[in-house]
Amino acid sequence: MPRSCIFCGGRSTKEHVWPTWLLSILKQPSWKREQLHVISTDQHGNRYRRQQHTPEIVTRAVCGQCNQGWMSDLETRSSDVLRPMIAGEDKTLTGRQQETITKWVLKTGMVLDSMYREITFYEHNERLSFRETQIPPGYVTFWLGHYSGSDFGSFTRHGILRTERSSNPYRSFVLTMSFGRLVLQACNTKIASSAPEEVFDYFVPGEWNTVELIPPFTDEVRWPPSGSSFDDSEKTLLKFSERFGGSTDVYISP
Ligand SMILES: [Zn+2]
Repeated sequence: MPRSCIFCGGRSTKEHVWPTWLLSILKQPSWKREQLHVISTDQHGNRYRRQQHTPEIVTRAVCGQCNQGWMSDLETRSSDVLRPMIAGEDKTLTGRQQETITKWVLKTGMVLDSMYREITFYEHNERLSFRETQIPPGYVTFWLGHYSGSDFGSFTRHGILRTERSSNPYRSFVLTMSFGRLVLQACNTKIASSAPEEVFDYFVPGEWNTVELIPPFTDEVRWPPSGSSFDDSEKTLLKFSERFGGSTDVYISP
């Protein structure tokens, strides 16, 4: 199927979802898992499972020009910040570094979202606009946590939440990822244009030990948060990824 670049409309090529710098970390022998489970859901709610032995996911989502241009610049800046955090090094994040992390998370989220074409959160014009401004539609909040367990590697889950309540109609894209010691989560919410903005009541459920990154990132943020965070007990990452509840369309990828 011929596909066009989700960010510019140009002719897309096969590219890895995870950038080379991250793949090289994920493929380290000590981090290698026996199997990675990939679960996807189609527009009818049917679930498909497959297993793979490599963290590589390939998609025709972006063109060479985007991949080697603005996305490559973003990857270079992101790897400088994220690589030490994935290895578990303490960090004081400047506003600019927080901004870099959040742009990278959103860029990754948009690529993952586009892989399930029947139900996507981001619309074509929103992705074009993101390429220009690297600002997402609606409201967005980010959280960073620390994983202290033994199951290194990666965890990714993304889904679209909806509410049918007519007084407060919104859709949210929730993306949770974990690489090595670093846990990242974003919640991007779009409110129906018919709704008055003041009815939006942003509720963040659960008591999780995370640090929040809030645009416009005026304060420095220390990572990891003090105290215990995510470990291997009771599938905490999975629970964290489900904390907003009410999900109708959920995808898990390696
Ligand atoms: Zn492009």
